[in-house]
Amino acid sequence: MQPPVIHRASWVVPVSDPVIADGAVVADNDRIIAVGRFHEQCEIFPDAPIKDHGRSALIPALVNAHIHLELSHIPLPALHKKISGFTGWIETLLAMRAELGDTGHAAEEAAKQAMRRQHRLGVIALGDIGNTDMGAKLAGEFPGLILHFHEHLGRTTKTRRAILERVAAAPQDKLFTAHAPYSTHAELIRELKRRASALGHPFPIHVAESPSENEMLRRGSGELYTFLRKRGFIDDSYKPPAAIDNQGSVQYLHGLGALDKQTICVHCVHVTPGEAAILAETGAAICLCPGSNRYLRVGKAPAGLFLQNGLQPALGTDSMASNPELSLWREMNILRQDHPEINAADIFRMATLGGATALGIDAHYGSLARGKSARFLSIPLEKEMTDETMLFNLLTADKNIQPLWVIG
Ligand SMILES: [Zn+2]
Repeated sequence: MQPPVIHRASWVVPVSDPVIADGAVVADNDRIIAVGRFHEQCEIFPDAPIKDHGRSALIPALVNAHIHLELSHIPLPALHKKISGFTGWIETLLAMRAELGDTGHAAEEAAKQAMRRQHRLGVIALGDIGNTDMGAKLAGEFPGLILHFHEHLGRTTKTRRAILERVAAAPQDKLFTAHAPYSTHAELIRELKRRASALGHPFPIHVAESPSENEMLRRGSGELYTFLRKRGFIDDSYKPPAAIDNQGSVQYLHGLGALDKQTICVHCVHVTPGEAAILAETGAAICLCPGSNRYLRVGKAPAGLFLQNGLQPALGTDSMASNPELSLWREMNILRQDHPEINAADIFRMATLGGATALGIDAHYGSLARGKSARFLSIPLEKEMTDETMLFNLLTADKNIQPLWVIG
């Protein structure tokens, strides 16, 4: 055991508290024991050695709340085929997965490479979604935490029964989730959510990613409905749920009893003001994926509306199949471009504490605070700045960012 160390830098960004100029983070081995002004910490810990990071910002490690590691070997479909619309993308993705396979050496190597890159970019935790267990298998090789969710989908009775049998036989620490309201039968969503709630597991689900999802739920028509019908995924018995009026997926999931503090609604691009209020009331988390939304041209999530409702979204990269780069730094920059009205601190919070809270790991990660993990980051800065311009510079650094891991 080493004695506590005072890490000094020109800026400390606790996230849960205002930025501190000439700040310090005091680390006792793997835990933070204090955060504050450098001179004050020197008085409290007079014998502690000082590690001066100079003109840098000390920030919490990032949390990528939504990724699909198992799709890391799938090249962007648009590079290979001209895709049209959201269903065109799904169709091409399914064909490429069938051709390239879901598992095997190439898929695993690509996933490992993606994991290494996440770590290089300063990510401490991943919310990983997969239709295989690859993310769980590789989790031990990630120098942080991977929460792997085995995702299910299907609308027929036969599929539903088979899935629920497998789920019932699985160990209790295995995490399951449902894919999306359009692809997954209401009962299957309900049952998977019921299990997650009983075991205290988070429950991420893709929600309102494209406008055609709401159209299918509202009217039983549209691009997505036609696509699923053509593939035999739904039959004549499909009827749009009666209770959603002119709302969409959020209202629908609320009607199923699937929204609570442990549900993570991923994407949330097409959400009405009434539905934002539902998310706030139920305490459901939101995970925004602006890079994926931009690539698929499905629209921009109403991030400002969520903040006005007191929601603190998380941020995710989604997968290599819908995003040219899996970098939360790029996601923050895209969000800033899409929503110049949102302040830098709110965006930075999404990539850190927002993600940690959504995944239920905020006791350890997401901010620099007493009791939390001392595995944080030091970001060298080129020049002296004010706290607002410093955060703005972090958000826009994108490819120029060079996070250094600090192991306290
Ligand atoms: Zn996804």
